[in-house]
Amino acid sequence: MAQAQAIAQAGLKSTLMGGLEGDSAPTTTVLRERGGVHGPSRFFLWVQCPQKEQSYVIILNVGLRNAMLVFEAKLQGTEEQYRLLDEAIRTARFVRNACLRHWMDGKNIGRYDLSAYCKVLREQFDWCKKLSAQACQASAERAWSAISRFLDNCKKAKPGKKGYPKFKTEQTHASVEYKVDGWKLSEDRRNITFRDGFSAGTFKMWGTRDLHFYQIKQIKRVRVVRRADGYYVQFCIDQERIEKREPTYTTVGIDVGLNHFYTDSDGNTAPNPRHLRKSEKSLKRLQRRLSKTEKGSKNRAKFRQVLARKHLKVSRQRKDFAVKTARCVVMSNDLVAYEDLKVRNMVRNRRLAKSISDAAWTQFREWVEYFGKVFGVATVAVPPQYTSQNCSNCGSEVKKSLSTRTHNCSHCGHIQDRDHNAARNILEKALRTVGHTGSHASGETDLCLGEAIPQDKPTHRKRKPKK
Ligand SMILES: [Zn+2]
Repeated sequence: MAQAQAIAQAGLKSTLMGGLEGDSAPTTTVLRERGGVHGPSRFFLWVQCPQKEQSYVIILNVGLRNAMLVFEAKLQGTEEQYRLLDEAIRTARFVRNACLRHWMDGKNIGRYDLSAYCKVLREQFDWCKKLSAQACQASAERAWSAISRFLDNCKKAKPGKKGYPKFKTEQTHASVEYKVDGWKLSEDRRNITFRDGFSAGTFKMWGTRDLHFYQIKQIKRVRVVRRADGYYVQFCIDQERIEKREPTYTTVGIDVGLNHFYTDSDGNTAPNPRHLRKSEKSLKRLQRRLSKTEKGSKNRAKFRQVLARKHLKVSRQRKDFAVKTARCVVMSNDLVAYEDLKVRNMVRNRRLAKSISDAAWTQFREWVEYFGKVFGVATVAVPPQYTSQNCSNCGSEVKKSLSTRTHNCSHCGHIQDRDHNAARNILEKALRTVGHTGSHASGETDLCLGEAIPQDKPTHRKRKPKK
């Protein structure tokens, strides 16, 4: 509770009303605290302000996850060491799956029951003890995050699939998460030693990021990630990324599409990279050769590996493109508006499916929102209805099919490229609804892998003062 008090005090000072500053600092009492550890905490505070002879009840959201940076480095070790990492990953997966089973079989099992269940597992299975206790907890938290996402979707009555949590199976892409124990950085921070029960030993780290800039205690989590081309370590660092940027006094609306990756409200376009299309031929060929090999043969394992690497390469190219394009858009505008598209619904359209998934709009959008927070640029998601049908000049509706590429208004005679017209409508809509900041990144680990976690800013809410 003392820690909560400290966080609350600090948060209060930095964020709330100017009238509360100065030497007559308000005294706060934490009435209630919800959440915490892994997700954002919500504090219910009773604030007494001596100078104004007033008291307030304030709800303060403090998100620990909001301020995380993720740095990544590749691990270099021996085959034997990699085998030990595999074992740790397998154990973490076992704990996650066992927790999920426990939740499915029981009734009203909550997050804390899962943490408690970890202890039971460790007593039941000796080899579970090899994984550090905190890493076990982290695995249980992962199970819980899958469960709570499902429960959330049910509660919100989200249309379509609710995402009932699944058991994880053996696969190339997998990871294990450590908290503050079970690992140690060397003096020069170029090597990392894992010292839990698996004792995988010391690995050399290959990466471009410098860890010297941060305190060891700022590292809240260490993840070991297995990919098709090797083993990586990720450091989650408790540090918010805020960067300065000169205002440009421009606003932009962007319409994403298949012909161009996006068209903005000034008529500029960004070409569609179509990484997957380019690699598609070779992927197909590999896939064919894989299917011809005998099941369980060495040859098959080899082709699987080659194919996995190819997929990894495409996903990296895609991410690289999304990050660079998003950064560029955010840097050159003070407000970025885009459509609140439900890509999942659109992918059902089979003829367009491949290009849509390939264009990776969702990823692009998440990076736009992330950079928006870093550079202090407003990002606005507008509902997609009528953006392409309405005339950006006079506002009347002009029906057109997907294949009609030009907007030709019968009311005012305005002629414009279809996407350009849509982008102008999007900007117009956004400027009318500023204050609503679009939907946020999901916090899904897969999307966050890389230099940073896109996350929401903490929201601060104030209740009306009591009389
Ligand atoms: Zn018109």
